[in-house]
Amino acid sequence: MARYTGALCRLCRREGEKLFLKGIRCYTEKCAIERRKYAPGQHGQRRGKPSDYGIQLREKQKIKRIYGILEKQFRIYFEKASRMKGITGEVLLQMLERRLDNTVYRMGFSASRGGARQLVRHGHFFVNEKRVDIPSYILRPGDIVRVRESSKDIQAIPGSLAAAEHKGLPVWIEVDMQSLTGKLIRVPSREEIQLPVQEQLVVEFYSR
Ligand code: SF4
Repeated sequence: MARYTGALCRLCRREGEKLFLKGIRCYTEKCAIERRKYAPGQHGQRRGKPSDYGIQLREKQKIKRIYGILEKQFRIYFEKASRMKGITGEVLLQMLERRLDNTVYRMGFSASRGGARQLVRHGHFFVNEKRVDIPSYILRPGDIVRVRESSKDIQAIPGSLAAAEHKGLPVWIEVDMQSLTGKLIRVPSREEIQLPVQEQLVVEFYSR
C-alpha cells in the first residue's frame, strides 16, 4: 500500500499542532511546531477563518496523517466502520488503533508509527507465532505480538521501549519487556484512545 514520503514536519505545521510523526525528536526543541507554528508555504501565515467544510476537512486530514494512511485506504476504513454496529467515528478509531503498525507503536516497540510500519514491513514481528509483515493487519482481542528472536538487538526497539515505559502504556494492552511480547487485551473504548481528534467531523465530512 502506498504511503506518504514527503516532509513529516510539514504535515504537523499544516494542521497547526504536533502529530508526533518523528518519534523522539517530537519531544525536543528541534520540533518544527515549536519553532514555526504556522502553515507551510508562501501564504502560510495569512490564512483566514476556515469554513465548516474546511474544519471537517482538516480533522479528516489530521487523523489520516496521524495514522499514516492515504485517502483511498482511509475511505475504505470509513465505509467499513459505517457498516459496523456502534458510533461510526468511534468504530473507525478503534479499527485504526488495532492496526498492527499502530499497536507496535503503542506497545513501545517503536518511537513512531512510521518507524513501526517499517519494522513490521521488514518482518520483525510475529502475531500469534506467525510472521506478519502487513502494517494494516487488524488485531483482535487476545492476539499476541512478539518481536522476532533475531530482531531483539535492533537498536530502535529497546530505546523506544524505555521511552514508552516513561510515558506509560495504554490500559488496553500489556507488554512484557523481558520477552518483548505484547498482548491486545481488549478493543479500546473512545476514552482510552488518547487522541485529541474529533472523529465526528470525519463522519460529517463524508456524509456531505
Ligand atoms: Fe511534528 Fe514531530 Fe516534526 Fe514536531 S518534530 S513537527 S511533532 S513530526
